[in-house]
Formats: sequence, C-alpha cells, structure tokens
Amino acid sequence: MNLRDNNIERISNKTFDVLIIGGGINGAAAATALAARGAKVALVDKGDFAGFTSQNSSNLVWGGIKYMETYEFPLVRQLCMSRNHLLRSYPSSIREIRFFTNLDKGFRFSPFLLYCGALLYWAIGNFFTRSPRFLTPQQINDDESTVNTDHSIGGFEYSDAFLYDNDARFVFNFIRSAINYNCTAVNYMESLGSICNAQGEWQTQLRNTRNGETYEVRSAVIINACGPYVDQQNKISELTTEHRHVFSKGIHLIVPQITNNKRVLTFFADDGRLFFAIPMGNRTMVGTTDTRVSTPETEVTTEDRHFVLDNINKRLNLAKPLTEVDIISERCGVRPLVIKTGDQNNKNEEWMKLSRKHAVDVDRERKHISIFGGKLTDCLNVGEEICEVVQQ
Ligand SMILES: Cc1cc2nc3c(=O)[nH]c(=O)nc-3n(C[C@H](O)[C@H](O)[C@H](O)COP(=O)(O)OP(=O)(O)OC[C@H]3O[C@@H](n4cnc5c(N)ncnc54)[C@H](O)[C@@H]3O)c2cc1C
Repeated sequence: MNLRDNNIERISNKTFDVLIIGGGINGAAAATALAARGAKVALVDKGDFAGFTSQNSSNLVWGGIKYMETYEFPLVRQLCMSRNHLLRSYPSSIREIRFFTNLDKGFRFSPFLLYCGALLYWAIGNFFTRSPRFLTPQQINDDESTVNTDHSIGGFEYSDAFLYDNDARFVFNFIRSAINYNCTAVNYMESLGSICNAQGEWQTQLRNTRNGETYEVRSAVIINACGPYVDQQNKISELTTEHRHVFSKGIHLIVPQITNNKRVLTFFADDGRLFFAIPMGNRTMVGTTDTRVSTPETEVTTEDRHFVLDNINKRLNLAKPLTEVDIISERCGVRPLVIKTGDQNNKNEEWMKLSRKHAVDVDRERKHISIFGGKLTDCLNVGEEICEVVQQ
C-alpha cells in the first residue's frame, strides 16, 4: 500500500488532537511544530501540498525592507529575526543574496537616503548579513552592465535571503518533517466543512478529490490554514472571525537568464513599487505586480505580461528586448491580506498600505483556530504561535 492510501486509512473515522486544513506554508509549519511536540496531528489539502499560494511567491526570505517606508519597524524587526533564524536553521534551502538596486532620476528618495535606510535595516537585522554598499552610476555600470544606467542617479546594494531551490520544496520539507513526527498528511483531500458536536468534538467531512469518496475525521482542535480560502472554509462551518482576507494578485514571468551574477536586480517599477529580476536556477524570474482582485482564482492577463515586460525592458540594456516569446513559464497567485471583518478598505492609498502581518483568530470555546495572511518568511513564528494557543 502506498503512503497516501495508508494515510487515508489512518485518517478515516479516527480521532486526532488537531486537524489542520490546508497544506501551504502556514499549515505545514503548524503541523511540524505541533507534531514535534507530540500532538496527534492530521493534515489535509484539497490539492497538492504547497500547490496554491505557496508555490507562487517571489522565493524571498526577507526582512521586509520596503515596510520601513510605512514606518512598520516592529514588523521589519520581526521579519529580520525570522530571516536570520531561517538562514541559520535551513542552510541547505535558504541563502543570503545581494539586492543590487538602481535608481533613476526623479525617484522619490535620493540614493544616499536609501543607502542610510539600508544601513538602518542592516542594524535592525542585528548586522547578521554582509553590510550594505553605496553605488554610483559608474559602479553600477561596471558591476552589472545589463542594468540601464542612462537615467541612473546611483543606487545601493544590501543583503537579504532567498529560497534558491524554490518555495514549494521548502514547504514540502516541513510536511516531510511533520510526517517524520508521526503526522498523518493526505493531499487531494478536501474539507467539506466541520461541525462541533455536543461533546465539544469536531467532526469534519472530507472528500477524496481523486475518486469522490467521503470520510469523516474527528479532532479536539481545528486549524483552518486554507490561505486565501480561510473565509470560505469558515463560512461553510458557520464560524465568524475578527479578521478576514482581501486579495492582491501578483505575477512573475520566468525568462532566460538575464545575468550570470547570482544577485537580485532591484528596481522601482512605473507604479513606484519594488520590482525584481531574481535568479531561478539557470533562468530569471521577473516581477511582480500588485492588483486588487476579489477572488483567489486568478490568471496572468495580457496586461500583466505587458506591465512586467515593459518595466524590465526599460530598466535593462538587453541586446534584444524581452517579448512574450521569451516567456518560459508564468507564476500567478494572490496575497491573502488581513483586515478586520467589517472594514471596507476601498481607497487605493489604504490598499497599498495594507499590512502584510499575519493574524491568528482563536475561538477558545469551540477550539477553532484560523490563520490569516502571513509570509513564507514568517513561518516559524506562525508555528510557535499556534503551539502556544493549542497548549493553552
Ligand atoms: C506574488 C506573490 C509573491 C510573494 N512573495 C513572497 C516572498 O517573496 N516571501 C514571502 O515570505 N512571502 C511571499 N508571498 C506570500 C506567501 O507566498 C503567502 O503568504 C503564503 O504562501 C500563504 O501560505 P498559506 O499557507 O496561508 O496559503 P496557501 O499556500 O494558499 O495554502 C493554503 C492551502 O489550503 C488548501 N485548501 C484550501 N481550501 C481547502 C479545503 N477546503 N480543504 C483542504 N485544503 C484546502 C489549498 O489547496 C492550499 O494548498 C508572496 C505571495 C504572492 C502571491
């Protein structure tokens, strides 16, 4: 019998301490942390593990330098500490990488001010990485001739980290560890909703999406880690929460390798947002975008492709500009962003300022936990926080 069939047998009509619904980074980190502490854990995902948002990120493990512009220093500190922790703990998946940043004339900040910001960022991160470096247009030209310096006013270089293998493999390593700690993990197993019975025990209906068979699993605690589907899952189970999600679509295009240098080329796109060319094996991943959408199901549109291609072509000196023909593959996902239930956040400026912090909503009476938002970078904090709540 293969591992999945064996785990289906272990899960059906059995009782667990904790059932985790959703095998993206949040569910995987929670499963590992709980199983490692001896809890009897089951984890289900309606598709492949890490098959949704957690396979469509920018692969960055970063302290969130851009949140300094909105003065979110506690968040920057928390993310820097998480980055350092991950760099120390997972050296085979995560590596330090340099962000080589060029600024064009008319940019809202001077290169020197941003270099000072990078020094502060380095200090907030306990000087854990290599120090930042100020760059003149001439140095940018000498170090990275692919960067178009026609309108350059200089720039700076600083360090963060990236998942050089990729995000989905990183998540799967957590699931693998959870399984090693005796967690029962089953993919292609959808939760159809849960009810809390008279004894205070959760009964969750599951459907094998491969053959339509249904099962029931019982648990003392439920963790809803459905990413962009958290609200939908809570609605099915008739649960209300303090927070809810709104969605920001982000896309990346994978193109032939732009530079042999293993560093992230960093620019500010026409909309003023950070824009990257990130090494991905012997390819380069270019992006991203930030478009408000109303559902988790999205796709790359012609407009998205043009935005990314136009922006990268303007900022590089390529012998031949990149066109749609050069696109090897595409990534598209939604960032699940957290807002208070009842907030509207209709204005554009409010939208751009929405925080990327995670939130954990707990219904103590019914022993139900929902994880909202978050980042791959923040996964160890999410795991720890969930353990504290479950232990209480
Ligand atoms: C464009 C983009 C770039 C990003 N870049 C970065 C970055 O560089 N660094 C970083 O740290 N973060 C980044 N993020 C954020 C990060 O990717 C996400 O916050 C994170 O992956 C969300 O993980 P999750 O586990 O909450 O959700 P998901 O990964 O979506 O996992 C939820 C899982 O729940 C499953 N599910 C849903 N409903 C059910 C159900 N009924 N039954 C069973 N299973 C169900 C889904 O199949 C899915 O696998 C980026 C996000 C985007 C979109």
